[in-house]
Formats: sequence, C-alpha cells, structure tokens
Amino acid sequence: MGVKVVKFGGSSLADAEHFKKVKKIILSDPSRCYVVPSAPGKRFPNDEKITDMLYQCHRLVDINQPHEEIFERIANRYLEIARELGLDFDLEKILRETSHEIRARRSADFAASRGEYLNGIMLSHYLGWDFIDPADVIKFDRRGAFASEWTNEMLKKAMEDHPRAVIPGFYGSYPNGEVHTFSRGGSDVTGAIVARAAEADMYENWTDVNGFLMADPRIVENPRCIRRLTYRELRELSYMGATVLHEEAIFPVHKAGIPTNIRNTNNPDDPGTLITELPADASERGQITGIAGHKDFTLITIDKAMMNSEYGFGRRVLQALEDFDVSFEHLPTGIDTMCVVVADKELIARKDQIIQRIKQTCQPDTIEIQSGLALIATVGYGMVRTPGSAAKLITALYEAGVNIRMIDQGSSEFNIIVGVDTADFETAMRAIYNAFVS
Ligand code: ADP
Ligand code: ASP
Ligand code: MG
Repeated sequence: MGVKVVKFGGSSLADAEHFKKVKKIILSDPSRCYVVPSAPGKRFPNDEKITDMLYQCHRLVDINQPHEEIFERIANRYLEIARELGLDFDLEKILRETSHEIRARRSADFAASRGEYLNGIMLSHYLGWDFIDPADVIKFDRRGAFASEWTNEMLKKAMEDHPRAVIPGFYGSYPNGEVHTFSRGGSDVTGAIVARAAEADMYENWTDVNGFLMADPRIVENPRCIRRLTYRELRELSYMGATVLHEEAIFPVHKAGIPTNIRNTNNPDDPGTLITELPADASERGQITGIAGHKDFTLITIDKAMMNSEYGFGRRVLQALEDFDVSFEHLPTGIDTMCVVVADKELIARKDQIIQRIKQTCQPDTIEIQSGLALIATVGYGMVRTPGSAAKLITALYEAGVNIRMIDQGSSEFNIIVGVDTADFETAMRAIYNAFVS
C-alpha cells in the first residue's frame, strides 16, 4: 500500500461540519497515513481567522494589555467544534495552559503556532490517531533558516513509532526548542516536508477550490481549472501571484519526485489539479497552462552605445543592486540596452543611491526609471512548439488597447512575461485569458 500525506487548509477545518468532511475523506482511503492540519479559517466572508486572532492576542500581551477577552473568543471556536463533535478530553485545561503560555513566552511565533497546535490535538482525538508535535521534529537553524536534512531525519524517526499521525502545520522550532513559524500560509510547506519524510506516493493538498485555476478568480470570471501542471509551471505561477499553494511548498516534494494533488474538501469527487515533474502528453495540454501577475514593479532602463562589447557592464549594474541589498526580478536586455525589473518594495528606500552608483560605475548614456509597472506571466509547455503564441498574446493586448512596456520571453519558452501599466493590469489579464482560452 502506498502512503499519502494529506494537508487540510484553514477553510477545510473552520467548523465541526468541515471536521466531519475531513474525517470522511481521510478514512475513505487507508493510504492516507499522515494528516497536516492548518488552524481554523474563516467560516463566512467577514469571519476572523484564528491565526489573525492569535497574532492580535500576542500584540496585546506585548503592550501589557489584557489578552483574556480575545483569547476567550479563540477558545470558544475550539470548544464549539469539540462540543459538536462530541470530543471527550480536557480541552478546557489545554486552552487555559495555552493562554498562560502565550502570556509567559511573549513570542508572536509561539502565539500564532497555537492555532495549528490546538487544531492538531482536536483532530488527533477525533480520528483516534497519534499526535506528533512539529516543535520536536521540524527544525530551523539559529538564524531561522529551515534545516531540511535535520528535519527529514527527525521526522523519519518519529514516523517509525507512529504509522498514522496528525502533525500540525505552520511551525517547528529553533535548535533550543523555541517555536518558530514559516511565513503565512506555511502549512502547505509542512505538508510537503512531511510528504518527503514519509516517502509518500502523493501529497494531497485539500482546500476550498476544485484546484489550481488558470487565472485569479477575482480578476477573470469563472476561469477554467488546470487539470495537470508541472512543478516548473507552478513555480512560475505561484511566484507571480497565484497563491493557492505557498511557493516554498514546491521544493521538498519536487526534489523527492512526489506529485501534489490539489483537491476540494467540499467537492471530494472532483479529481482536482495534479502537479508532476513532467508535463502531460502534448495531446492533453492546452496552449497555455495559466496566467498570473503582480503589480508594483519599477523598470530601470540603461542605455549605452557599444554596451555589448564592454567587459563587466552587466556585472557592475547588478553589483550596484547587490551593494544595497536589492534583488531583481527580470533582466531583459538588447544590444545597447539593459533593463532591470525590481519590485517597488525592494527599491523604494534606496532608489537614488542605486542610480547614483550605476552612473558612477557604468557611465551609461541614459538611465530611465519608470514605476507603476505590473508584470503578467503567461505560462505553459504548450507554447513551446506552437508557433505564434507570442504574436497571439501581443495582438490580444493591442486589441484591448493595452500598451506593452516590456516583454521578456524566457529562454525555456514556456513563459512569456509582459510589463504593462498598473492601471491596465486587469484588462490585460482578461485579454490574454480570452485570447488563449475560448
Ligand atoms: P487554504 O486555507 O486551504 O490554505 P488558501 O486560501 O491559502 O486556502 O488558498 C485557496 C484560495 O486561493 C482560493 O480560495 C482562491 O480564492 C485563491 N486563489 C488565488 N489564485 C488562484 C488560482 N489561480 N487558482 C485557485 N485559487 C486561487
Ligand atoms: N494558519 C497559518 C496562516 O494563516 C498557516 C496556514 O494557514 O497555512 O497563515
Ligand atoms: Mg493556504
């Protein structure tokens, strides 16, 4: 029998009804051996996420204000679920201890991690399965970098003693045992780490949509669901803003050759999206796999005649960025032109110094800065051998009246990135989607 690791997001565990659906899903397939839960999410649009409430709770502790009232609201969410499920263990005692510890430890990470910790305890009682505390097995180094090999060893050892277990998402610990979390949405990362250690055949990521959609549903109406995509395509799409899966959740499973299946807890019969190393057969592929984008970039355009024959020109430009701790996103270049695309938030405080440095070290003819750029990536292996993909994209934008300020077709050809004015972002996304998907 194979092993599946199943991660359930916050919306999949927001109330007792969802816990029931989750249990049914887990027990319907005996290969589902390790479960990674998130903290309870929103039950309705204006509801509060437990994780947000726990951060708020910590802020009150931090400024020496009473946190009891907000903690009581948190506790009531768990107590209500436990009551409705008929769970019979001393949850009130655990909640009292948790409240006390949040005050005593004064750590935002510790407070936030309790959302997953408490949900994990609830789920392990509900399933009758063992509980593995990630603080014991998921490790970060002293500077907070994830310690992948140490973690893998620790998890494997723990799994030998617990053939079925619940392992809460989102957190682990520093070498001294102090709790540390991944960034927001990090339970996806825990799920991938657990899948690697379990040498799973599949990492199932259960959420509240049928799978990865071809475009952000808040921009494109009713986008199609992607049935198959590769880890490389996923990386491009999630990096550019499609946020279904945490971008770091890709690495552990990709490295271990484990496919990921995104599924809908509210519609478990749907096969969802399957993410694999290799692309599906050409016959199953559409021309594009998906579109994703992001606003708030700046384009730095540097012109210098005969730049191409000058040794070290590109290095000196990038050195200027590195000297001020700024990373770049894209680097489309021509013979006498070099463009650097940088996220506004990276550049904002250091713009003038960087420009000054480039002028000094590169002596360009001109240097121009344009902010208010949005980037849109159109991704898909289907584009590689289909002539005219770029022409189709450019025509669609032209017909929609969108001016293209930059275009960058990666050398792998499965990715075309265009830069447009921020004000044109939504129009451009819809125009590209409609041109390729009709
Ligand atoms: P979970 O709580 O299960 O971790 P998330 O809220 O993190 O779920 O991610 C799922 C949400 O991502 C969806 O409800 C949807 O609103 C949003 N989303 C953004 N872009 C996409 C996309 N391209 N495909 C699917 N969902 C998307
Ligand atoms: N509960 C955490 C968050 O809200 C982690 C997660 O949901 O994946 O960010
Ligand atoms: Mg998520």
